[in-house]
Amino acid sequence: MTLRRSSWPSSASRPVVTPLQPSVVYASATPDALDDQYTGVSSGYTYAREGHPNADVLAGLIDGLEGTTGGFITGSGMAAITAVMFALTKTGDHIVAGNQLYGRSLRMLNEELPRMGVTSTLADPTDPAAIKGAMRPETRMILIETVSNPTLRVAALDEISDIARDAGVLLVVDNTFTTPRAYKPLLCGADVVVHSVTKLLAGHSDATLGYVAAKDEAHRAALVGTIVTLGLTPSPFDCWLAERGLYSFDLRYDRACENARTLADAIAEHPNTARVLYPGRSDHFDHNRAMALFDGQGGNMVSFEVVGGRAAANALTTAASMIAFAPTLGDIGTTLSHPASSSHRALSAEDRSKLGLSEGFFRISVGIEPIDQLVEDFRTALDAVDPA
Ligand SMILES: *Cc1c(COP(=O)(O)O)cnc(C)c1O
Repeated sequence: MTLRRSSWPSSASRPVVTPLQPSVVYASATPDALDDQYTGVSSGYTYAREGHPNADVLAGLIDGLEGTTGGFITGSGMAAITAVMFALTKTGDHIVAGNQLYGRSLRMLNEELPRMGVTSTLADPTDPAAIKGAMRPETRMILIETVSNPTLRVAALDEISDIARDAGVLLVVDNTFTTPRAYKPLLCGADVVVHSVTKLLAGHSDATLGYVAAKDEAHRAALVGTIVTLGLTPSPFDCWLAERGLYSFDLRYDRACENARTLADAIAEHPNTARVLYPGRSDHFDHNRAMALFDGQGGNMVSFEVVGGRAAANALTTAASMIAFAPTLGDIGTTLSHPASSSHRALSAEDRSKLGLSEGFFRISVGIEPIDQLVEDFRTALDAVDPA
């Protein structure tokens, strides 16, 4: 190497934008200085898997939204859930979990954790009696999502928080669908909150990240130990992108919710629509609970069923070519997903039908486009369906 790394130019003025810091290692002045860092006399970074500034900046911002401190960023939403499981459960423990969790969370409970001697029982989180009935003496944790995918059922969060407190078990809430703009789990009785930052918080489908925060200091210490040992740490570049996305999160979220409300009503009026599921509509099963828990917000997710089954579904996505048919959520652009061929394809047709997921069932993650354009796009798509 003929060139030496040069030092960073000094400047009397500071950058306005958070610098991107991809350095994996940090050089210290002396062994004594390094000792001071390790013993906490001074603070500083040593190695990126153990922590880096871009993750810390992003964690601090999400902490502010969730009304907490000391949260951590992970390399994905699933890495955050992995951290929770490895840090806060041990062999012999039992978990009570929502029966419509994110697919990979269910697989972790069903396929990964049993090998570590951690078992689980799934129960309907909209029914407190079902959650209570699933509890055992060795239950250590309840894991639920605020709003289920894709039928958008709202968990009985207040009652489940009481059940967890009375039983002395940890309540872990995946707040990805609701976001802290509508609900702050740690301020409502949860012990741990997790996010797929990949979705609404980052908002641009260009960064894969997670977030986890715990109320209790001992749980935080356990989480950070697990995150750095298992290597669940995020990339600085993804953190930097997500930070940029996060600054417009409140504007994006409010606009997407407003769009979702109008779009849900427009879809409901179309003759080729069999039903619409939107917690902000008074005909949704959990409308009252959603309004009470989520500060009047119905969220940005809308599900609907088109009449006519798979053929109708193919016609609809073909006619809706301007809407990305992609199984994600929370992007600035509206995306459409079809659970029977994506998120719920592993289920039998019978199990899908129990959940109400026919071949005509779609889920929309509503974006921030002009609402007239969105309504027109979905009208065109629904017009293209042959209901026969
Ligand atoms: C996407 C998602 C996850 C997983 O997050 P990744 O960032 O994709 O790993 C977990 N929970 C919910 C509710 C999700 O939507």
